[in-house]
Amino acid sequence: MQSATIIELSQSAIEYNLKFIQVQMGDKIIISSVVKGNAYGHGIEEIVPIIEECGGNHFSVFSADEAYRVFHATRGKNTILILGFIPDNGFEWVIKNDIEFYISNLYRARKVLEEAKKTGKKAIVHLDIETGMNRTGLNDKDLMEVVSLIQNNTDQFYVRGVCTHFAGAESISNFVRLKNQDQRFREIVSLLKGKGIVPDILHAACSASAMVYPETRYDMVRIGIMQYGFWPSKETFIHYIHNKTDKSDPLRRALRWKSKVMEVKSVCQGEFIGYGNYYQAYNNIKIAIIPVGYYNGYSRSLSNQGKVLINNQRVSIIGMVNMNMIIANISKLPNVKPGDEVVMIGKQGKYQLSVASFSELSNQVNYELLTRLPQDINRIKTK
Ligand SMILES: *Cc1c(COP(=O)(O)O)cnc(C)c1O
Repeated sequence: MQSATIIELSQSAIEYNLKFIQVQMGDKIIISSVVKGNAYGHGIEEIVPIIEECGGNHFSVFSADEAYRVFHATRGKNTILILGFIPDNGFEWVIKNDIEFYISNLYRARKVLEEAKKTGKKAIVHLDIETGMNRTGLNDKDLMEVVSLIQNNTDQFYVRGVCTHFAGAESISNFVRLKNQDQRFREIVSLLKGKGIVPDILHAACSASAMVYPETRYDMVRIGIMQYGFWPSKETFIHYIHNKTDKSDPLRRALRWKSKVMEVKSVCQGEFIGYGNYYQAYNNIKIAIIPVGYYNGYSRSLSNQGKVLINNQRVSIIGMVNMNMIIANISKLPNVKPGDEVVMIGKQGKYQLSVASFSELSNQVNYELLTRLPQDINRIKTK
């Protein structure tokens, strides 16, 4: 059965964004497509084959269950890297299938040794270095213990990478902290080299640091938000365009979220609309009921605030966002009928509703709004 609400994914937008990023990075640098958070809400199963068709072959995820989904969504030969969580009973599958993953604490290193012995295969690992974010990452003491554990068990470990993560490259306010982190990273890399640990690749940058701090690109960049067509922050975008003559945004949004008008009706002046007294008709008005609500990821904080596009015009959401429905004031549109397309995010005619405008209204950043788009909405690939 088809639902009224769907998400369209533009393959050409993804292709364009990936090309743009590769040109910025230069062709020697590996781009790992970060597809955690259900590919930032775009959908792992749909996005992974699209990225593959665009030439991408390196995917990063947060957890082993996401790695499993990517593994089954890919068609060709790929690298999958887990940046975060693996349950104890997940290592066997991970190691058997050459899924790469971070070692960020001693507990995991010991667990991996045990599992790799059982599996009879080398675990392909990346040493996640604590450089000042104070989230995951090996501190100096644990790092040294992990290094000796690895050196005593070279049949169980293959050190593919050494990496770290910056605490907020999208804002200049973190400049000093980031520079210190990068400095620390370089020191540890050379210290490891002195101990005979020389990985194939070094990596540290997310979208923001890859764009703003070229020296942090090393051998690979982990790109999430930008491949979907969004800047990590306004600042990052301004940093990019400030010395360009063309001030237009080079990225293209891949996602379009749309639904359909379910009902159209008239309401007399003075009547309240929907639950409670959130909205009172100031006049005789016409409204459209749209079958999207907070259940579908349309935030309740957009009550009396949100905008949607109908018949190529921008109209306002009135009243409360309900679990399954919102109501738009369509008084200025004489011809709306059930079945007409409603756009919540994306273009319709000459108007566009961006995720940014949408998320500023509801105090969510792009990342959060996107990843909150429910997994069960149908995703459809378009040109
Ligand atoms: C999410 C994440 C990224 C990607 O960040 P973007 O800002 O979306 O590019 C890179 N590295 C790590 C460790 C992450 O968790």
